[in-house]
Amino acid sequence: KEGNGLEQVNKYIDTVFYDDDAVLEEVLSSIKANGMPDISVSPSSGKLLTMLVSMSGAKDVLEIGALGGYSGICLARGIGRTGTLTSLELEKKYVSIAYNNLSKAGFSEQVSYMTGPALQSLKKLINEQKRFDFFFIDADKAHYEAYLRACIKLAKPGAVIVADNVLARGSVADKNVEPKRYTEIMRQFNQTAASHPQLESVLVPIGDGMTVSKVKQG
Ligand code: SAM
Repeated sequence: KEGNGLEQVNKYIDTVFYDDDAVLEEVLSSIKANGMPDISVSPSSGKLLTMLVSMSGAKDVLEIGALGGYSGICLARGIGRTGTLTSLELEKKYVSIAYNNLSKAGFSEQVSYMTGPALQSLKKLINEQKRFDFFFIDADKAHYEAYLRACIKLAKPGAVIVADNVLARGSVADKNVEPKRYTEIMRQFNQTAASHPQLESVLVPIGDGMTVSKVKQG
């Protein structure tokens, strides 16, 4: 069952609001050519990321889950020439493909990758007292809550935290679905994002669903 019409709605959104983008098409081709999974953000989700970064005025962005650099390019497009993108990725091979794609898109000087389990990289960033004003969580789902907690620690006041796949293909909203681990993880994550005392959050049903949270000041 295809998640409560979510696919149809997103096809419509992508058709009406997405413009052809040769750079991002090339990223998708490189992902296919290298036998990597076809799990980049949807075109409109990518466009939303660019807009959110640029509208929030964020300069230092942290991404968790790079894959081939599709969302990385979307984020980097929003930061302007003086901003930075730090991207955490488990797979060495993916890091080199993502870096190559970001370089082709003109962002080689602005992006840096940390290879290995994201929880370890986040711990290092926290120990180094690094701060960011925009976060994009899009790695292994089992650690989403831990990633959210780490992002809050690394956040400047007013920072934005976006997490992808929070609708679990629409299953979170389907009372008749056989509860799967993925569905339960995302239901729990959404509850946490909605009720966390340091966050103001909403869920945008674009792509596979994105929570957008603002870290409260003070
Ligand atoms: N954000 C990417 C995009 O839209 O272009 C897609 C990311 S893909 C959905 C998830 C990525 O998280 C994969 O590249 C995977 O290797 C990475 N990943 C999985 N577990 C991880 C972990 N524990 N630490 C860091 N990265 C991890």
